[in-house]
Amino acid sequence: MQRRNILIVGAGPVGSVAALACARFGHTVTLLEAQAHIDDSPRASTTQPPTLEILAELGLIDEYIRVGLVARTFEFWDRPTLKRIAVFDFDRLRDETDFPFVVQTEQHKLANMAIERLRKMPNVEVELGTPVTALSQDENRVTVEAGEHVFSADYVIGADGGRSTVRKILGIEFEGYTWPERFLVITTKFDFAAALGVCFRNYMADPEEWTNLFKVAGDDLKGRWRAVFNTRPDETDEEALSDSAVRARLGRIYVPERERDYLHLNLYNVHQRVAKSFRKARVFLCGDAAHVNNPIGGLGLNSGIHEAWDLAELLDRALRGEGDELDSYEARRRPLNIEYVQEQTVANKRRLEERDPAQRARRFDELRAMADDPARHKAFLMKASLLESARRAIRH
Ligand SMILES: Cc1cc2nc3c(=O)[nH]c(=O)nc-3n(C[C@H](O)[C@H](O)[C@H](O)COP(=O)(O)OP(=O)(O)OC[C@H]3O[C@@H](n4cnc5c(N)ncnc54)[C@H](O)[C@@H]3O)c2cc1C
Repeated sequence: MQRRNILIVGAGPVGSVAALACARFGHTVTLLEAQAHIDDSPRASTTQPPTLEILAELGLIDEYIRVGLVARTFEFWDRPTLKRIAVFDFDRLRDETDFPFVVQTEQHKLANMAIERLRKMPNVEVELGTPVTALSQDENRVTVEAGEHVFSADYVIGADGGRSTVRKILGIEFEGYTWPERFLVITTKFDFAAALGVCFRNYMADPEEWTNLFKVAGDDLKGRWRAVFNTRPDETDEEALSDSAVRARLGRIYVPERERDYLHLNLYNVHQRVAKSFRKARVFLCGDAAHVNNPIGGLGLNSGIHEAWDLAELLDRALRGEGDELDSYEARRRPLNIEYVQEQTVANKRRLEERDPAQRARRFDELRAMADDPARHKAFLMKASLLESARRAIRH
């Protein structure tokens, strides 16, 4: 049994970036992924400025932008009246970052890009189709079992997603709740920018049923749109996925009847949960294994990549014998996730679904006032882009 420095469970976007971040220091790294191929269902695409900074340091940024779409602005709309409420422009962050925009690149592209780089590194082994089934540790090392295979490592990163086997084996509670409604993602070629005048990232409020509307490049780079809707709590999966309900939803975002064909459907359960602890001795949790949230605002994956980056540096120092700061990982990352990711995504959801007419009007006024005031506009974007959280995380 070969001993490795760092073993990472899960080659989703967080695990594969964590592997690259650790491997660049020259440590021996093993990345184990349960599936034979990276899942390409429509999940994250919105990549925030501090994440782009990390991808630049990893040498991935040019390719990442090439296979995605650059979006400088995002917009809030009132869906029933199809009125634009406010526009937020990342260019206001140009003094804060080299990347004053988001890039819309689908998350499977990031994982595949990182894996391709990892496969060329002599200190890295990547094993797909290798689900981890057991894990144990003593003072000096962690032993990981994947079926008949046994691995040994100084440290393990559990980046195995919301249903994390690593978290369950460690017996760490996943505190929080699950929303009663699910989120439906409809992928279509209908050109919403041409038809409605929207930008590439739009949040449409409606007390009956809200919509988030995004453009992504697609694998063919020809462009397609993802429309995300809440389902009714009493709506069955079958109902939500039925052709008639999907076409009716497209109709409610102003798609003419003859153009309501779609490419893909996905229905997700949505949670707000944070692991009670992000570490047990030599094993760490990262990304969705450590926390999950509703996707409104595009923060979950971004925060996971920030953790991976942070943790790689801490593990590097520990492996070089430059002091043990490993406790700081949980002390720093857990509160940041609660303050910036959980709180903002819950607030984003409330903003879209507000039912009380007076409260709704107040929320719209507040958005307009923020957009119109340069200082408040920038402050809002510093939080929404996770730049504020990323700057706070820098150790002195
Ligand atoms: C509709 C939707 C839209 C979203 N949009 C955004 C967005 O725009 N921006 C954003 O920041 N976030 C967004 N998110 C959230 C984002 O998708 C997740 O935060 C992200 O997938 C987390 O990445 P991860 O690598 O931690 O986990 P995952 O992507 O779940 O990857 C985990 C990996 O671990 C593997 N695995 C599981 N168990 C094992 C095991 N036992 N052994 C080995 N491997 C294992 C899995 O096969 C998988 O490949 C969105 C989510 C949804 C549902």
